[in-house]
Amino acid sequence: MAVRLSPEIEVDALGFDLDHTLGFDDRLELRTMLRYAREAAASRGAAVGGALREHASALLALARVGQLTIDQAMAIFLGAYLPASRAKAEVARWREEVVAEARVGMRPAPGARACIERLQVRGIPVAILTNGWSPLQEAKAQSLGLSHLPMLISEHIGALKPAPEAFAALVSRLGTRPERTAYVGDDLDGDVLGARAAALVAVWVPERDPAAADLRALPHDVVTVRTLAELAP
Ligand SMILES: [Mg+2]
Repeated sequence: MAVRLSPEIEVDALGFDLDHTLGFDDRLELRTMLRYAREAAASRGAAVGGALREHASALLALARVGQLTIDQAMAIFLGAYLPASRAKAEVARWREEVVAEARVGMRPAPGARACIERLQVRGIPVAILTNGWSPLQEAKAQSLGLSHLPMLISEHIGALKPAPEAFAALVSRLGTRPERTAYVGDDLDGDVLGARAAALVAVWVPERDPAAADLRALPHDVVTVRTLAELAP
C-alpha cells in the first residue's frame, strides 16, 4: 500500500512534525513563563524587567536547539526574581502545570486527525518525530487524540531536527527506506530541508501563506500542501 503525493512521488510511510503541523499550543511555554515571572516578582515586591518576553523567548530558543534543558532555561529565567532554592521549586510546579494544560488544551490543525485516520485505515505506517521534552510532547499528542501513534521525541532519541540522525531514527521506526518515506512539517529549515537532506520526501505545510521568495527558493521535489486535508484524500 502506498500514498501518492504528486504525479511523480509515492511513499510507503509518513512521519509528522507535531507543533504547528498537527496542532497548536498557542505559546503555552512562553505565556506561562511570563506569568510565573510576574508572580515571582510580585511576591517579592519587585517589578519585572522591560525585556521579559525577549528574555524568555531567547531562553526557550536555547532549549529548542538543545543548549539548555527546559528546566535550566526556566531556572535561569526565574533566577532573576527568586533565590535559587525557590526558583527550583517553581520550575517543578511550572513543568507540571504546562504538561497538565497541554494534555487538554491543544488546538488541532485543520484536517490533521482525519488525515492520520485515513492513512492508518489504509495500513500506512505513521509516526510523530518532534523536537521537545517529555512528558510535554506526549501530553500534546494525547490532547490531539494521537497518543496511539509511535512518537520519537528529541529528548529520548538524542537527536534534534534537522540533524540527519533524527530522520534516520524515524525511518528506522517506520521500517521503510528514506526515499519511500515522507516527512510532513511546517518549518522550512528544521522539517523540510532537514528531511530532504536525509533523503526523505519533504512535505511542507506552511503555517501562513509562504513568501514568494521562499516558494521560488524551494527545491522542486518538495511537496507543498495548504492543510493536511490535502494529504491522502
Ligand atoms: Mg513545527
